[in-house]
Order: sequence, then structure tokens, then C-alpha cells
Amino acid sequence: MNILIVEDEKRLSDALVQILKEQKNSVDAVYNGTDGLYYALNANYDVMILDIMLPKIDGFTVVKRMRENHNATPVLLLTAKYDIADKVKGLDCGADDYLTKPFSSAELLARIRALSRRRGDVILEILAFSDIKLNTSTNTLSCHNREIHLGHKELEIMKILMRNLGVITTKEVLINKVWGHDSNADDNNVEVYISFLRKKLTFLKSTTTIDTVRKYGYKFGHKNDK
Ligand code: CA
Repeated sequence: MNILIVEDEKRLSDALVQILKEQKNSVDAVYNGTDGLYYALNANYDVMILDIMLPKIDGFTVVKRMRENHNATPVLLLTAKYDIADKVKGLDCGADDYLTKPFSSAELLARIRALSRRRGDVILEILAFSDIKLNTSTNTLSCHNREIHLGHKELEIMKILMRNLGVITTKEVLINKVWGHDSNADDNNVEVYISFLRKKLTFLKSTTTIDTVRKYGYKFGHKNDK
């Protein structure tokens, strides 16, 4: 595999290079966000390991700009400490997975294998219906010349609704697919995110809407299709 490492801690970077080269990977290492973004956009890597706290531009910005430039390289973000806010922010920016420092080399290699298998899934997909386009790699919803960013859960919900046009999507399906079977999420969580999405559709001045189908769930379609 071709792997790019963007990590400014030289000792950690050197250790990563050594571990990955031992596994017969081809590895490039750079030490700041500007170089990281340049390499990511100008070469073809199977996986990128990206630190968050970096000189020049941070890891969040690097991955966001990559996705804006339609670069779908799977990104494993390295975080200094366990921080939920960082995780959410990173996933919103388009990162694929997280590894919290310190980590074992076995853990790192397992995550990289998983990411490289997923590479085929990280496709640049645009879902379109009526005046609405959903770009699943940049997390943006657009309508004519207006566009708005979606958070991770908003994106997942919108994808499900747009793939099930004209069909009722139940709250249960949304909870299972977006929050997971073992989560504590309930109908209220879904309602909150649906209301965020409705506000965004209104902001975009779209002719589409998410209708509530009482006692069943939701249906995405044109405003006057009842
Ligand atoms: Ca750092």
C-alpha cells in the first residue's frame, strides 16, 4: 500500500514509518498540514495517517480541503487525547476513522487494513432529487447556487431519505442505521435532526421537503406531493 503520514512529532513519525515499512508498505512522511495537503492532492495514496495538531494548517482543515477537492483517500486521524468533540468534528470534516495516542502498532495496522478495505466505499457520491443535490464526500447539500454543510448525522439521515424516495422511512430504521442498534437514541433524537434538515432545506429555498407520516415516519419529496 501507498501510505502518507502527516505528523509533526518526528519521533512518532519515524516510528510509524518503520512499522509500516516493515509491513512492505511504501511510505511518505511530511511534518506540517500544508505539505500534507499538497502530497494528498498530488499523489495517489491508499491510506493517509493525519495528526490533528499540526503546524501551518491543522488536520481538520487538511481533510476538509481534500474532500472539497474531491479527494477520497481514506483518512485515519490521530488525536492526542480522547476527546468526543474532536471525533465529531473530524468525522464532520470527512475523516474516516480515529486513533487516540498512545496506540499500539497492532492497533494501528488493524485500523489501516480496515480503512484500505473500505477504500472502495469512499466513493464520491452525489445524490440528486429535484432541485436538491447531496454531495456525500463534502457533506454538502445544495440547491441551485446555494449550499449548506451537513453534520455527520444529518448527512446519514439525508442519504437514507434520498435513497428511499417516495417510500416511508421509519424512525426505527433511522435510529438503527444512524445511531446504531445498541444506542440509547430515541424518537426525540430523530425529530431533532429532522427539524435541522428541514431548516436547511428552507434556507436553500428548495421545493423539496421532509414530510411527517404520522405514526410511521418520514418521506422526502416535493412540497405538494401528499
Ligand atoms: Ca502534532
